[in-house]
Amino acid sequence: MHAETSTGAHQPLEGFADLVHSKGALLIVDAVTSLGGHELKVDEWGIDAIYSGTQKCLSCPPGLAPVSFGDRALAIMDARKTKVQSWYLDVSMLRKYYTGGGGGRVYHHTAPINMTYALHEALNIVLEEGLEARIARHEKMHLRLRAGLEAMGISYIPKRSLHSLNCISIPTGADDAGTRKRLLEEYGIEIGSGLGVMAGKAWRIGLMGHGSTVRNVDLVLTALREVLK
Ligand SMILES: *Cc1c(COP(=O)(O)O)cnc(C)c1O
Repeated sequence: MHAETSTGAHQPLEGFADLVHSKGALLIVDAVTSLGGHELKVDEWGIDAIYSGTQKCLSCPPGLAPVSFGDRALAIMDARKTKVQSWYLDVSMLRKYYTGGGGGRVYHHTAPINMTYALHEALNIVLEEGLEARIARHEKMHLRLRAGLEAMGISYIPKRSLHSLNCISIPTGADDAGTRKRLLEEYGIEIGSGLGVMAGKAWRIGLMGHGSTVRNVDLVLTALREVLK
């Protein structure tokens, strides 16, 4: 897990692959909330399989899951003897569909080409800004929000926070659902609730893609200050 959206934790991955590979395992990474918002060096970090989504830091409509498989993962796929039980997640079939790898292109499904155009445009927008500049913007906006929240006495829950997702402790005495409802109805801001054991204890504020701006950071800080009064 590079980016743990339910807890807002950022997991640095440098050095992981060596440990994983030394045990004969593969490193598979969930980068749904980090692609386009955090540094992500798939090959350099030795990641064997990785997937993401288009709708988070890439600011693309939802619908596609960008994936990448390294040589180790492909070799294991090639050596597989048993049939894959899932149709939609049969990556060996998807591979033949995408690349024709291993004996000609094979039909798997009708791709939503409108989504492919959307992703193409979203990636162009990323490149117009510059990937590094975009990652730096996510960090800067996270630090701006963090400084504002901490000045209000609100603390972050994870030790290493994502820049794209800010998971904070609900201040003592604050009404969880009531605050979120007012933020939405009066300011048009939707923040996430805590999940599982963190329900009622945490709020999750997303700063992803085009949403990660000074305007949004300052608006959510002002709105929270007002609602929490
Ligand atoms: C957002 C998110 C998901 C859910 O993505 P969907 O496209 O809604 O299924 C899954 N995992 C992580 C880490 C996420 O951030």
